[in-house]
Amino acid sequence: MLRIGKETRTYFYDLRNQPIARASVKDTVVFETVDCFDDQLKTEKDLAHTIDMSHMNPNTGPLFIENAQPGDILVIRVLDIEPEDHAVATLIPGEGVLQDRAPGPVTKICTIQDRKTVFNEDIVIEPRLMIGTIGTTPLDRTPTGLPGDHGGNMDVPTMGIGASLYFPVFVPGALLQMGDVHSAMGDGEICIGMECGAEVTVEIQALIKGRFLPGPMVENEHRWGIVANARTFEDAARLAARRTAGFLTQRLDMTLEDATLLISTACDLKVAQWADANYDTVVYVEVPKYLDKKGRLQAL
Ligand code: CA
Ligand code: CA
Repeated sequence: MLRIGKETRTYFYDLRNQPIARASVKDTVVFETVDCFDDQLKTEKDLAHTIDMSHMNPNTGPLFIENAQPGDILVIRVLDIEPEDHAVATLIPGEGVLQDRAPGPVTKICTIQDRKTVFNEDIVIEPRLMIGTIGTTPLDRTPTGLPGDHGGNMDVPTMGIGASLYFPVFVPGALLQMGDVHSAMGDGEICIGMECGAEVTVEIQALIKGRFLPGPMVENEHRWGIVANARTFEDAARLAARRTAGFLTQRLDMTLEDATLLISTACDLKVAQWADANYDTVVYVEVPKYLDKKGRLQAL
C-alpha cells in the first residue's frame, strides 16, 4: 500500500509542487497528516497567535493520479481515518463567531480514546472524524487555508469515513493533497474543530473522463452533498442552490422550476464552516438519494 509521509507537507495548492507519489484508479493510499497548526501547539501554554502562521493548515502530498486530465472528475473514497492520541482546539483572537465575547487566546488539548475526544472528565465527544482540507490542485496558486472550486479548506463534516468525494481536475495528474483532520467538528464550525494529526486511508475510486463538475461534491450512504463557498453566507447559499439545481436538472432531466421546488421541499441547506476568520464561508446542499428511484444520480 502506498504511504505518503507527513514530512512531505505543503502550504499551497500549486501546480508547480512536485508529486510525492503516483497512483492509479483502484489503488489505496495512506496520507499521514499533521494537525492544522503544523503540530506547533504542544501544551496548553502554547497559544495559536504566537506560532508561525505561515505554517498553517499543512497538506500532505500532492499525489499524482495516472491518466487524470483537466476536465475529468476525480473520485476518491475515504476508507479510514485513524487519529493520533490527542486533539487541540483553540480560540484565536480575531477569529470565530463569538470573538467579541470569547476572544481568547485559549489552547485546549484533549486526549482521544477509542476515537472519542475527551473534552473534560464529564464530557466525551463521539467520533466525528472528517477531513477538513482536501482537494485537487487549481490553476492558480492557492493557500491551503482557503476553500474553492478545487476543494481545499472546506470543513464539510460529512467528508469522513465511508464518503466518496468528487473533485474537478484542473491540472494533469490532478495533484491531490489533504490535511486538517478533525476528530470532531460541529456543523458550522463556529470557530475551530478538534484539530488532530491522522492517518487517512483513501481509495482512488474512479476517474470520470471529460465530465464537467463546477465544484466539490460528497456522496454518503443516503445523501449527495453539493458544496459551495463565498465570502458571505448569502452568496455561498445562492451558489450552492444553483449548483444543486444544475445537478438535478442535468442528472434527473427536470426543469429548473421543478428542481427549485425539489431543493426547497426535500433537500437541506447546511453550513459547513462559518468560522468568521477572514475567509469564505462554506455551505452544502444535501440531496437525499431516495428521490432518485432510477439511480440516475449515480451516473456521473
Ligand atoms: Ca479547516
Ligand atoms: Ca481545522
